[in-house]
Amino acid sequence: MAETLNWIDEALEDLHRRGLYITIRTVASPQGPWLVVDGKRVLNFCSNNYLGLANDPRLVAAAKEAIDRYGIGPAAVRTIAGTMQLHVELEEALAAFKETEAALSFQSGFKANLATIPALVGRGDGIFSDELNHASIIDGCRLSRAEIVRYPHNDVQALRGLLEAHRDRFRRALIVTDGVFSMDGDIAPLPELVALAREFECMLMVDDAHGEGVLGHGGRGIVHHFGLQGQVDIEVGTMSKAFGVVGGYVAGREKIIAWLRQRARPFLFSSAMTVPDTAACLAAVRILQESTELVDRLWENTRYFKAQMTALGFDIGQSVTPITPVMLGDEQLTQEFSRRLFAEGVFATAIAYPTVPLGKARIRVMISASHSKADLDFGLEAFARVGRALGVI
Ligand SMILES: *Cc1c(COP(=O)(O)O)cnc(C)c1O
Repeated sequence: MAETLNWIDEALEDLHRRGLYITIRTVASPQGPWLVVDGKRVLNFCSNNYLGLANDPRLVAAAKEAIDRYGIGPAAVRTIAGTMQLHVELEEALAAFKETEAALSFQSGFKANLATIPALVGRGDGIFSDELNHASIIDGCRLSRAEIVRYPHNDVQALRGLLEAHRDRFRRALIVTDGVFSMDGDIAPLPELVALAREFECMLMVDDAHGEGVLGHGGRGIVHHFGLQGQVDIEVGTMSKAFGVVGGYVAGREKIIAWLRQRARPFLFSSAMTVPDTAACLAAVRILQESTELVDRLWENTRYFKAQMTALGFDIGQSVTPITPVMLGDEQLTQEFSRRLFAEGVFATAIAYPTVPLGKARIRVMISASHSKADLDFGLEAFARVGRALGVI
């Protein structure tokens, strides 16, 4: 009986041998600028809690009140009895925030992609997909059974060539891209993609998971950042990053949302977001709708940290967002750098092959509005000490 599972031992062993085994650290404190990780208090430089909302008292209070009023679970999928008033309020608030006709919530950003892409395209259709798109986009594309044409990262000329060569073969076509690419912090050339989508009669979808709450006025996202409201057919977002909770959504034209309500499989066949999650997400959207304070602070912190890192002599890549990749190149050096930072009380993950190409290893620093200037200085001093000790600067 056990022998049929022996391949797992070998596969895990192989991951260890190749240095690809993922070690999972455990956090024993609330999410915030400082964490207790594996028993040690460390400065948090690696979460997606861009605005510090994950433990914001206003979100906590909203979740508690909602539990007292409505309990915990939705007890059904959205199309049977799981659509609660809170879901509808959240969707109205999201549409107002994003300035789209409508929005639809999902249990996660991952599910939003799995839900949306197969509802829009199928056999006989084509998808033009950036080669660095997120795993959930890739999986959504595969599930759709449409033909996938990958284009080189952010390369608008190459995409045009592929559209010229292939668009005519397809009934419908979709261009899909991440808004912010999370390993380098660069962003999609959205104005050019809008023009190409129009010229070649393609639907255009952007997954703004790392742009939500970060880019554009008050964190309205990449479409706002470029002033392209109303020109991108489908915006996918997550409430698991800057919004500080968990959940995903799609924002766009009313008819797209109407279609997803009929055809998006995770909407039809997987239970709705829980009550406290939904209430906390609604509180987060209202906070962002009311004030740009948190987003402004995030950018202030980002500018300060990046300027200081550059002055220290680090190569911080081409990021235009709070994602700050500290480019080190060598995989072993990067692992050692991360270990030494942890010993200095700074939690910043090493990112190496296969997540990024060989020889492009880096430490990825995630800046948050919740960091104080003293926190950032603590982190900078640790980077300076380890950088000098390892001969990087
Ligand atoms: C994180 C991320 C997701 C997944 O969002 P979850 O809400 O965590 O499931 C989807 N797309 C992109 C581009 C992401 O960065």
